[in-house]
Amino acid sequence: MNDEIGIRNYVESHSFLKEHAKLYQSIDNAVSFIEPIEFPTIDECKVLVKEGLPLLQHEDIKSRVTEAMTKLSPQVIQSLNMKINETLERLIKWAIIDRLIPKELKSSDVWEKWLKNYCPVCGRKPVLAQLRKQMEGRARYLKCGGCSTMWRWNRLGCTYCDNEDLEKMHILEIESESEMRIDVCDECHSYIKTYNKEGDEDIYLTDWATLHFDLLAEEQNLHKVGSVLID
Ligand SMILES: [Zn+2]
Ligand SMILES: [Zn+2]
Repeated sequence: MNDEIGIRNYVESHSFLKEHAKLYQSIDNAVSFIEPIEFPTIDECKVLVKEGLPLLQHEDIKSRVTEAMTKLSPQVIQSLNMKINETLERLIKWAIIDRLIPKELKSSDVWEKWLKNYCPVCGRKPVLAQLRKQMEGRARYLKCGGCSTMWRWNRLGCTYCDNEDLEKMHILEIESESEMRIDVCDECHSYIKTYNKEGDEDIYLTDWATLHFDLLAEEQNLHKVGSVLID
């Protein structure tokens, strides 16, 4: 199915998401003119992060992103024509950063060896996870809520603390939507929404589109991590 039609049908059947869809669509449109800035080559990037320092925390890259941001923000804000509050400001900032990073750097293929619980590109904690079929079973990939990069991480255990004890993890589910589950850590009381299928990444690896799973977790007093809205 065409991605755009897919997400439109999905929002139709999840009408509580309509306002969110509208807002994110407007932001997407407002940043759509932004082209990625120049980054080192993929191989150079892999070397740059070897010590665990994400790309955007390297002085040279950081200053170029900041410079572009200072120039672009006012344009984006003006074209959005909305009342700007702190939330919107954060969404705009990260939508711009997302556009400034070349697509090829966001692919998990680039980051197979990173194996950390924060984004190799911008350094944020992941907001979503995906279980993908691999030769030896299933592997877990994490998705950055800020710059959309994906990278591989441990298959089991908490994504946010060092709890690897499965006795101290449990799962929450919404019966009608088996595509996604919530992996809960009983040690740090955080959770990560986990897409356990493949094909509808545009929906199930999008934070706002899976908001009802956050509501379920919120009812249980669990902490959300990785969202650009909260940290
Ligand atoms: Zn990131
Ligand atoms: Zn934990």
